[in-house]
Amino acid sequence: MPRALITGITGQDGLYLAELLLAKGYDVYGLIRGQNNPKLDLVRRVVPDVTLLTGDLTDLSSLLRALEVAKPDEVYNLGAISFVAYSWENAMLTSDVTGKGVLNILEAVRLYSHDDPNRVRFYQASSSEMFGKVQEVPQRETTLLWPRSPYGVAKVFGHYMTINYRESYGMHASSGILFNHESPRRGPEFVTRKVTQAVARIHLGLQDRIVMGNLDAKRDWGFAGDYVEAMWRMLQQDTADDYVVATGETHSIRELLDVAFAAVGVSDWSGYVAQDERFMRPAEVDLLIGDPSKARDVLGWKPSVDFAGLIGMMVENDLAEQRALTGR
Ligand code: GDP
Repeated sequence: MPRALITGITGQDGLYLAELLLAKGYDVYGLIRGQNNPKLDLVRRVVPDVTLLTGDLTDLSSLLRALEVAKPDEVYNLGAISFVAYSWENAMLTSDVTGKGVLNILEAVRLYSHDDPNRVRFYQASSSEMFGKVQEVPQRETTLLWPRSPYGVAKVFGHYMTINYRESYGMHASSGILFNHESPRRGPEFVTRKVTQAVARIHLGLQDRIVMGNLDAKRDWGFAGDYVEAMWRMLQQDTADDYVVATGETHSIRELLDVAFAAVGVSDWSGYVAQDERFMRPAEVDLLIGDPSKARDVLGWKPSVDFAGLIGMMVENDLAEQRALTGR
């Protein structure tokens, strides 16, 4: 039975990846941070067969202890402080966890597998936020990185450190440059979920309007359940490498509002949407659109859910969730 350790098990991707690996017959271990982690119940409910271990990406010895217990064949580093807007308020903490945390886990894996650098296959969750002020359209594995937030800068550090461990120590370390990926499990601070939750509540008469930031930004949004499959496929290759994972389509926040409101029969949403400075960012990533051809050609990966299908799924889930919560 193959064994896997996932950091960030409490997040959207951690849960989907754990489900995928359990279905494939893996023995799955998840790293949980802190005492009384508020997400613990969720993880126990969704993936009860995962063995949870305590550890923190900022604490190298806790990572070594987790590796000694899990004895993994594969390590997926999904743990990070992942909300871009928050990273300006907490640039140091974001750098420590999202950036230096990658070095800590790479170093822990290297020490753990010192007699055979290929014993453990490693996945790093890199991000399209690394492209920031994009230098090429669409963005590929070779596009110059120009991050626009402390989060993006921290992800660039982790990305190059992963490549450096591969080149320095011959580790099987791969980096997935994932474009925005969403699902009904997305945190409500991200724009897709913020919108689908608000649309459901407006439709049920629980809320009057939604206050948004920049409506002109464009993102390449895919379904998280598809993207964890790409992570797994990367680690099944003979050689480690870097891959863009994206749909190859881009949509603006306005189009997101169009599709989400249309799902509840509203074609003109202008009366429901306000804008406020507090949701604007000090520096914006205006346009993301990925070229997933390498992932398609080498990994045989392609997305199964399109933009309209994704947003429709999220609105439907939020309607059911809000109905259950409020009895409407
Ligand atoms: P990101 O791409 O990782 O930053 O994912 P987000 O879902 O947080 O944001 C995607 C885009 O939506 C960014 O360009 C934001 O500026 C834009 N946006 C516009 N209004 C909002 C809002 O109210 N909340 C969030 N999170 N993003 C917003």
